[in-house]
Amino acid sequence: MDQYDVVIVGSGPAGMGAAFGLKKRRPELSILMIDQEPYSTGGMRNDCKMNFTYPIGFPTEYWDAEEANKYLDEVISFLHPHFLDKLNVEVYQNRAQKLDCSLLSIRQTHLGTDGGLLLIKELQEKLREEGVALSLGEKMVSADQGQQIIRTDKREIGYQALLVAPGRHGFQFLQDVMHQIDVPFIDNIVDIGMRIETRIEHYPIVKDYYDPKFYFPEKVRTFCTNSGNAHVVQERYVTSSGEKWFSVNGHAFSAHTETNNGLVNFAILKTVRLTEPLASGQLFAEHLGLQAALLGGGKPIMQRVGDFRMGSRSKAETFNQDLYDFKPTLNATPGDISLAMPSKILRYIWKAMKNLDTIVPGVLHPSTIMYYPEIKFYANKPQYIDDNFRVKEHIWFAGDGAGTSRGITGAWASGLRAADGIVRAL
Ligand SMILES: Cc1cc2nc3c(=O)[nH]c(=O)nc-3n(C[C@H](O)[C@H](O)[C@H](O)COP(=O)(O)OP(=O)(O)OC[C@H]3O[C@@H](n4cnc5c(N)ncnc54)[C@H](O)[C@@H]3O)c2cc1C
Repeated sequence: MDQYDVVIVGSGPAGMGAAFGLKKRRPELSILMIDQEPYSTGGMRNDCKMNFTYPIGFPTEYWDAEEANKYLDEVISFLHPHFLDKLNVEVYQNRAQKLDCSLLSIRQTHLGTDGGLLLIKELQEKLREEGVALSLGEKMVSADQGQQIIRTDKREIGYQALLVAPGRHGFQFLQDVMHQIDVPFIDNIVDIGMRIETRIEHYPIVKDYYDPKFYFPEKVRTFCTNSGNAHVVQERYVTSSGEKWFSVNGHAFSAHTETNNGLVNFAILKTVRLTEPLASGQLFAEHLGLQAALLGGGKPIMQRVGDFRMGSRSKAETFNQDLYDFKPTLNATPGDISLAMPSKILRYIWKAMKNLDTIVPGVLHPSTIMYYPEIKFYANKPQYIDDNFRVKEHIWFAGDGAGTSRGITGAWASGLRAADGIVRAL
């Protein structure tokens, strides 16, 4: 049986942070990283805009500014990001403040989906140079903590320390692992909302600030803005009973690509915290996702703001006429979002959109498209037994799937923090 000091499951930024962090701290460790995908490095394949300012990407229940900044400095010294310029931020901040909203000023960099792929290639080469064994296309199936082995779809592997970082897509897998190794967890928080797509001229702030982070009352925020050569995409999810549903998302290619479709997209999400009787955020999200898929004929729903304001559904035959003058980048189903989305969430998001339209006039142009659902259910909250995301004597978790991060840099930092714990334990 193959045996390693450390086995890392997941080659996303959390796994990468951990692998490079471990090699820096203890070069002699034997490390294996596996990923179920034949290519991967997880979510860095999409858009790859990185935020380097706390609390963006750092769930505050696990991170304070001091802890986050310590690891962010290490991420910066490793990745050498080139921060984007921001203009007129105070102007937008003043407008937001008058409405009880806020705009955070964040250090950002944007590689784009193409730039992200180049970075991934470099990182994987560097990993190999540093002696980390990388096995792509190998899926962890289960863990046996007594024997300190994991089973994959190819073999059994022994470990001294196991780090599981399967990302948001591995949410269900991580829950299965937690059941197997008896780690208590809750997942009572979920972000539900929609993705907005419009012309850049209707959301010109993106010329001043690539990914503006607005916070509105009632826990609504903007998130993951993409512009230039920007596209809305869908991510496929399958429930435990095998039913399919889709959540939308967005990405853009780097500024170096020649085509510019003149569009911008961003998410506007409301955080929902479920209380007594405590329900699973994942199950709630799945029900909403399935309802949207039912109404959208198996696809996400899209509606023009002009139709929404009139209280009528969008239809295929009217979708690109007159004022509705740009083509959606995602082939979603024209429909009626208010039939699918819980009214409380829709009300708060629409209120936030109206505030946003006062801060950046134009975003509620009739042609603006709202896509539903965009759901982020990355708030698995395992019971950690120390500050380094340890769940059992020889097992650690990190990254978005484990609730320790919400973005590339936070995931990388959480991998580093777990690495510190592993080094101390070995
Ligand atoms: C379309 C899209 C755009 C995004 N844009 C941005 C952005 O611009 N900026 C930003 O900060 N964040 C962005 N994100 C979020 C970002 O990708 C995540 O925050 C980040 O990747 C989380 O890192 P992670 O290491 O926790 O998980 P991931 O990056 O998801 O990596 C987890 C890895 O684990 C592997 N895995 C899962 N289960 C198993 C298993 N059983 N066995 C083996 N391997 C397994 C997966 O294949 C995956 O490669 C975006 C996400 C998407 C989907």
